[in-house]
Amino acid sequence: MSALDTNIEKLNGLLDRFRETGIRNRIAGEDRDGSAGVFQSVSPVDKSVICDVAHGTADDIDAAAKAAHAAFAEWRDMPATQRRRILLNVADAIEARAEEIALCECWDTGQTLRFMSKAALRGAENFRYFADQVIQARDGQHLKSPTLMNVTTRVPIGPVGVITPWNTPFMLSTWKIAPALAAGCTVVHKPAEDSPLTARLLVEIAEQAGLPKGVLNTVNGFGPDAGKALCEHTLIKAIAFVGESRTGSLIVKQGADTHKRNHLELGGKNPVVVFDDADLDRALDAVIFMIYSINGERCTSSSRLLVQDTIKEDFEARLIERVNNIKVGHPLDPETEIGPLVTEEHYTKVTSYFDIAKEDGATVAAGGVTVGDAGYFVRPTLFTNATNQMRIAREEIFGPILTSIPFSTEDEALEIANDTPYGLTGYVWTNDLTRALRFTDRLEAGMIWVNSENVRHLPTPFGGVKASGIGRDGGDWSFEFYMEQKHIGFATGQHKIMQLGK
Ligand code: NAD
Repeated sequence: MSALDTNIEKLNGLLDRFRETGIRNRIAGEDRDGSAGVFQSVSPVDKSVICDVAHGTADDIDAAAKAAHAAFAEWRDMPATQRRRILLNVADAIEARAEEIALCECWDTGQTLRFMSKAALRGAENFRYFADQVIQARDGQHLKSPTLMNVTTRVPIGPVGVITPWNTPFMLSTWKIAPALAAGCTVVHKPAEDSPLTARLLVEIAEQAGLPKGVLNTVNGFGPDAGKALCEHTLIKAIAFVGESRTGSLIVKQGADTHKRNHLELGGKNPVVVFDDADLDRALDAVIFMIYSINGERCTSSSRLLVQDTIKEDFEARLIERVNNIKVGHPLDPETEIGPLVTEEHYTKVTSYFDIAKEDGATVAAGGVTVGDAGYFVRPTLFTNATNQMRIAREEIFGPILTSIPFSTEDEALEIANDTPYGLTGYVWTNDLTRALRFTDRLEAGMIWVNSENVRHLPTPFGGVKASGIGRDGGDWSFEFYMEQKHIGFATGQHKIMQLGK
C-alpha cells in the first residue's frame, strides 16, 4: 500500500465519528446542538461533504459566554502550579494525537501533510511555552515614592473571545488560546466555518487533559451572526482576532459599545527584497518557500518579489524552473508540496487573478492554470513584468501566486516595499551589513527577517503595522493583552492629606 493509501485509510477511520454525530458545539463541557441547525463542512480535495457542523448563533454564543464567565473565578484562582500542569498535559495530549490532528486538518483545509504534521506539533509547543510562563505571569513592579509603597500586579482580564481563520487553523487557535488560558482567562472560541474539525479536537483534547469544564468553549458558526455576537457580548472582555483586514475593522466596530480590547492579526502583501550582492541560492530557496509553502495561504508569505534589475533575468529564469517543478497533488501524499485551495469561493478569487494579471499587462511566467476539476487545485503561479501599481501587487491574493517587480536602487526598492496598505512582514536579502541596517530601519513592517525566511521564535513579538494589525503576540506581549495592569499604593507613614472644608 502506498503512503497515500495508508493515510487515506487512517483518515477514514478518524472521520467515522464525525460522520456519525457531526461536530457539535462544546459549551460548559457538554456537547450542544446549534440553535440554527447545522451547516456542512466540505473537503476541498474532492468537494465531498465531511460532516454536519452545529450552526451556532447569538444564543449559543450567549450560553458559551455565560459558561466562560461561570468558570472564570475558579480558573483564575487555581494555584499557578496546577494551571501550569494542566497546560503541560494539554501539550502532551496534542503531541500524542498529532497525526490525527494533521490528517483531519489536511482533509478539511487542503493543506499538505508535509506542513500540517509540523503545525500540529507547533500547537503543542505553544501550550508548553506559555505553560512555562504561568508562574511569573502575574508578577509586577515595586515603584516606591516618598510617601507610598507602590506595587503593580497583573490580573487576567476575564472571559475572552478568540476568532480564528481557516489557514493552519489548529496552530493558530493554540497560538491564541494557550496564552489566554495561561494568563487565567476563560475562552469562547469561534473557529472559521470552513475548517471546524481540529477546533473540535482541541477542546476535546484540552478537557481530557484536565482543563475544567467551561474554561474553553467552542461555538461553530458564521462571522456575521456568531462572530458578531461574540464581539458584542457584555461578559466577553477582549477579542483576539486573526483574519482579513476588512473583518478586523468590523471586529473593532462591533466591540465599540462594550469597550472591547481587541488584538488584530490581519492580512499582508509582504515584500521579499533581493539585492544583487545576496547569497542568491539561499535567497531563491527562501523566496520559493515563503510563497509556495502552506498553499500560499499564509499571512506572512512574501507575495511580492522585489528583485534588483542587475540579476532579474537570471533569478527569474531559475525561479520559473523551480516553480514548474513543484508537485501539486493530494494533501495526504507525503510527496505533495501544494494541495487544493480551501473552498470554492477562495479558488474562484485566487484564479480570477490569472486574468487580472494579463489585463494589467503582466506576464504569466509560470502556472496560471487550474489542475483537474475534482477539487480546488491550481498550479503555483509566477507573474513577471509587473509594477507595484497592478492589482496583483496591491491586493492580498492568499494563494500560491508570486508577483515579481524589478528595481534598480536601494531607495527605489524601499519605496516599492513600503507602497502598500499592509505591513506584516518583510524579508531582505543582502550581504551588505550597513545596507541591511539602513533598509530594515526604514521598512514598514512588524516583523523583518534578513537573509532568512520566516523562522518563528516564540519569545519574539509577532504582529503587523498599518492594515496588517494592531497588537503583538509572543513572549510577554501575549500576557499584556490577556491581563490588566493593576496599581496598588500603600502609605508608608502618616503623610499630610490636604484637608478641605476644615
Ligand atoms: P476572515 O476575516 O474572512 O475570517 C476570519 C474569522 O472571522 C472567521 O472565523 C470568520 O467566521 C470570522 N468573521 C467573519 N466576519 C466576522 C464578523 N463580522 N464578526 C466577527 N467574526 C467574523 O478571514 P479568513 O478568510 O478566514 O482568513 C484569511 C485571512 O486571515 C487573510 O487575510 C490572512 O492574511 C489572515 N491571517 C492573518 C494572520 C496574521 O497573523 N496576521 C494569520 C493567519 C491569517
